[in-house]
Amino acid sequence: SSFNSFGLSKAMVSNLEQLGFEQPTDIQAKALPVCLAGKDVIAMAQTGSGKTAAFGIGLIEHLNPRLFAVQGLVLCPTRELADQVAKAIRELARAQHNIKVLTLCGGVPIGPQIGSLSHGAHIVVGTPGRIQDHLRKQTLSLDRVGTVVLDEADRMLDMGFQEAVEDILSHCPSKRQTLLFSATWPTDIRRLSGRYQSDPVDVRV
Ligand code: AMP
Repeated sequence: SSFNSFGLSKAMVSNLEQLGFEQPTDIQAKALPVCLAGKDVIAMAQTGSGKTAAFGIGLIEHLNPRLFAVQGLVLCPTRELADQVAKAIRELARAQHNIKVLTLCGGVPIGPQIGSLSHGAHIVVGTPGRIQDHLRKQTLSLDRVGTVVLDEADRMLDMGFQEAVEDILSHCPSKRQTLLFSATWPTDIRRLSGRYQSDPVDVRV
């Protein structure tokens, strides 16, 4: 497939083939090389564009599966989106063994999440409020996070999560990759990018 030209692992290329991903979508063709290069990205992308794989493939390819620490963090505005994103990442990761993806959202008891976290996870997908709860309880460490994804960032800010997002980012290493996906480009998103991204590459489709 034409996913061959990105320098992806063999496992990833054959898995994408099995998933029926023959051609990269526009956003994938533009954002994936930048994500894989470890650079920050600001991407204007709608649902249905293939944005989840655009960041998910990079997240998985950058992981060290033998390090049992959260290395990738995806923040989503809603539980529905977080569940969807976690499912998509699990599918993308199924050819690599032992990659654990954990969903941390509010509206469900926190106890089982604490239990799951104690067993280690490589990627956490969640909503800002519950992630903050775990940080306060010190049941989640973001010390080893290499990549943070802000998915549907405009919706997250619309829902009042700006402070939570900034608090969470302050718990991540300053030397990290920050990927910002948003359908719209209002001032508060540009400000967020300016504060928390370094030299981001603009990707529009
Ligand atoms: P998303 O915009 O990330 O919600 O993705 C929309 C849908 O497109 C999902 O069902 C994906 O599985 C599918 N998809 C993503 N990338 C590709 C691709 N390159 N080829 C075929 N389907 C894809």
